[in-house]
Amino acid sequence: MDQPRSAFVAATSEAQQFRRALRHFATGVSVITIFDGAEVHGMTASSFTSVSLDPPLCSVAVNKPGRMHELLLAADGHYGLSILRNDQGHIADYFARRPWSVPIDVKLDWSDGCPTIAGSLAWFRCVKWSEYDGGDHTIFVGRALDHGDDDSDDAAPLLWHKSQYHDLGTQLARGDGKAVVDPH
Ligand SMILES: Cc1cc2nc3c(=O)[nH]c(=O)nc-3n(C[C@H](O)[C@H](O)[C@H](O)COP(=O)(O)OP(=O)(O)OC[C@H]3O[C@@H](n4cnc5c(N)ncnc54)[C@H](O)[C@@H]3O)c2cc1C
Repeated sequence: MDQPRSAFVAATSEAQQFRRALRHFATGVSVITIFDGAEVHGMTASSFTSVSLDPPLCSVAVNKPGRMHELLLAADGHYGLSILRNDQGHIADYFARRPWSVPIDVKLDWSDGCPTIAGSLAWFRCVKWSEYDGGDHTIFVGRALDHGDDDSDDAAPLLWHKSQYHDLGTQLARGDGKAVVDPH
């Protein structure tokens, strides 16, 4: 049954307000990569979350209509999760298929038939552990079989806040006001 027009307008405005509130949550930016036997498909995701240390699990929430959703539902193999660094915004745009993104030749690293983004800050080779209904998204939880990261001093993440990319800002003092002392 069609919704009355006034209810539709209210629902739309509610959805916009929900989106606006969500934009305040700053995140890193990841790319999911999967090889379907013929080609590599990638999707930019800010929903990457660490879930568990033992076993080592990470999750991503993926929009239901879409190629990546189809591929992850069907996946019984491995997929990659790469955490982008601050100079990889063009890669995020490319795998989000943003209208202004230009075709780029993205370099990949391979491990056991699984692609990840070369030069990323950290990468995880995952096998699907479980999936959960998340409304218009599905939450895919993957078990990390292998991982790596760049721990060099100048390694910094790409950040996503209010639909814009950012670099890390100033490090703040601890909650008790004391200066942070690097333990290393
Ligand atoms: C910084 C950033 C973070 C992002 N984080 C996330 C995230 O965490 N999760 C997420 O899901 N997306 C996220 N996106 C958006 C996502 O990267 C893009 O929508 C991407 O193009 C989806 O790739 P895909 O291969 O799944 O979908 P594609 O097949 O490329 O389709 C693109 C979009 O078109 C629509 N579409 C496709 N097929 C259909 C269909 N049959 N019916 C109706 N609509 C359809 C869907 O909205 C789909 O997401 C993010 C984008 C950016 C820039």
